[in-house]
Amino acid sequence: MKIICIGRNYADHAREMKNEVPSTPVFFMKPETSLVTGNRPFFLPGFSEDMHHEVEVVLKISRKGKNIKEKEALRYFGKIGLGIDFTARDLQHEARKKGFPWEIAKGFDHSAPVSKFLPVKRFNDIHNLSFRLDVNGKTVQEVNTSRMIFSFEAIIAYVSGFVTLNRGDLLFTGTPAGVGPVTAGDRLEAYLDRIKMLDFRIR
Ligand code: MG
Repeated sequence: MKIICIGRNYADHAREMKNEVPSTPVFFMKPETSLVTGNRPFFLPGFSEDMHHEVEVVLKISRKGKNIKEKEALRYFGKIGLGIDFTARDLQHEARKKGFPWEIAKGFDHSAPVSKFLPVKRFNDIHNLSFRLDVNGKTVQEVNTSRMIFSFEAIIAYVSGFVTLNRGDLLFTGTPAGVGPVTAGDRLEAYLDRIKMLDFRIR
């Protein structure tokens, strides 16, 4: 099982990070050891002083595929959820300055808490789905999937041109503006179309 993450998929977040809006999707991976389920707490690691939350819609791949066409991409996932792409922003800035990969900033242990997954059929239109993250009861990130630069289908088509998707793989689809640091004691609650999906603490 692998976790593939899309970067810079909402223009407002690309702008807040002072990044160009990309002309093709940007993706990276997190290892299986990054996965956290069941609303278990997130333990702040000692190697970062600036751990950021990035709430994202996550697709659960339901069948194997390679070179998937956009018009067939919806057949490759049946369930949808939310996840947090925890990012050690200080390490990421260092890596970016040097032109190094992002794994130490994004692929460390427990950097990918994910919610339960709900059937896509449960939602009227996954291309018009609001989601948000509250930290300590205050909404800090909120957007609608209609604002994605690259659609779910475009992402699956692009990524599968490089990497075979397998059943059970997870695909993080990018975060909107409002990313920010977390500190011990914070409570993170994430909602997909007003359904509470995540509720856990930072330790
Ligand atoms: Mg992200």
